[in-house]
Amino acid sequence: MLKTFEYAQLNPIELQELTTRNTDPSHAIQDTVLDIIQEVRQNGDKALISYAQQFDKVELEKLYLDANDIDALASTINREQQRALEIAFQNIHKFHSSQVKRERVVETTIGVKCWREIRPIEKVGLYIPGGSAVLPSTLLMLGVPARIAGCKEIIVCSPPQKSGKINGFVAYCLKLLKIERIYLVGGAQAIAAMAFGSETIPKVDKIFGPGNQFVTKAKSIVQGMANVSIDMPAGPSEVLVIADETATPAYVAADLLAQAEHGADSQAVLVATSKDIIEAVNLELEKQLAILPRFELASKAIENSYAVLATDLNEALAFSNYYAPEHLILETDQWERLVRLILNAGSVFLGHLTPESAGDYASGTNHTLPTSGYARSYSGVSVDSFVKKITFQHISPEGLLNIGSTVEILAELEGLHAHKNAVTIRKEN
Ligand code: NAD
Repeated sequence: MLKTFEYAQLNPIELQELTTRNTDPSHAIQDTVLDIIQEVRQNGDKALISYAQQFDKVELEKLYLDANDIDALASTINREQQRALEIAFQNIHKFHSSQVKRERVVETTIGVKCWREIRPIEKVGLYIPGGSAVLPSTLLMLGVPARIAGCKEIIVCSPPQKSGKINGFVAYCLKLLKIERIYLVGGAQAIAAMAFGSETIPKVDKIFGPGNQFVTKAKSIVQGMANVSIDMPAGPSEVLVIADETATPAYVAADLLAQAEHGADSQAVLVATSKDIIEAVNLELEKQLAILPRFELASKAIENSYAVLATDLNEALAFSNYYAPEHLILETDQWERLVRLILNAGSVFLGHLTPESAGDYASGTNHTLPTSGYARSYSGVSVDSFVKKITFQHISPEGLLNIGSTVEILAELEGLHAHKNAVTIRKEN
């Protein structure tokens, strides 16, 4: 089932080709997205309504739902389901609250005090995917840190469902987050609307959220066009599982499929220390895939996935660091020894009883994570993503004497006399 490659046999070019994903070689996605952005800029709400008709197959009378609609939809889910969302909300809140820390004031030279203070980003836009699956969990993953950070305006966009509304789970999460409006816009058009604003949708300062290739491409394009920033490239999901002889093949297969069922463009990579493990996982994959409701999507994703045979766990981890997975699962008794060797990964799941699904929903960590190798340089979403850290300084008369001549000398050597004078004039008074 999974195509298998031997790590030791791969030359650098093969290694690079194998680990490159989700590219848009013919620029087809980019061209489509550029057209959509242009159309939204020119025609605003009219374009958004027309795209809802084209892509989501719904005729929208208005582009949003308000508190009354949200209340009615939220009441359609049962108490057990509400409780599960509440527990997820609480755990995500508990974990993210621990990220808020005040920094201390540093006196770099006597009389010169420097410090940083945290301020929320005022207007944030959250994209909640809703194409092949509706992800209320993503609303919690973005909304909870936005609330903890204290963002004033939280704009939420998600594609309308066939009913022309959103589902009850998303509505219940909106209530937990005390958000009273949701815009029924999906895809690249939602990103364009939040980046540039439309008659109905306010322009935001920063756009957050995962999505398919259209959404991810739109985020990367608008950040260069619209004076808006983005959280990170969080595109089609991926997992890399490292398994040795202590792993349970059924667990490994279940984890690979949990990723594969996201979409045909998802990727699930197995890195194993023996051929026997790969064979056993393949058998399990076949069994578990056959009975998955999302069989079509998951089997396409498995076709785009592969296994890598490594000689030992260190080699397995070297491959993983090169791949830089969004999710990394270590299914080995030796996970503790391996932690310090992990250099590139979005979120890591340790041991045999820690499925990635736990982090997707309810353990508390964030599931909006960098994909396509961006885990080499980006972190997943956290409270930090929703704030700015502003530096402050205060210089006393003693401080000015202590630091003044250093600034004067440096300003002079750069030929910036007005800079030097700003110090000199104060010293002379
Ligand atoms: P989505 O909401 O991202 O996209 C649906 C929208 O895509 C539609 O409303 C439509 O507007 C647009 N679209 C669809 N086909 C189009 C076309 N041919 N041309 C132009 N626009 C088109 O929902 P989805 O498709 O289900 O994708 C969700 C993605 O999010 C998955 O790939 C999943 O793996 C990913 N995900 C990533 C993370 C992460 O942290 N990286 C987390 C959760 C989900």
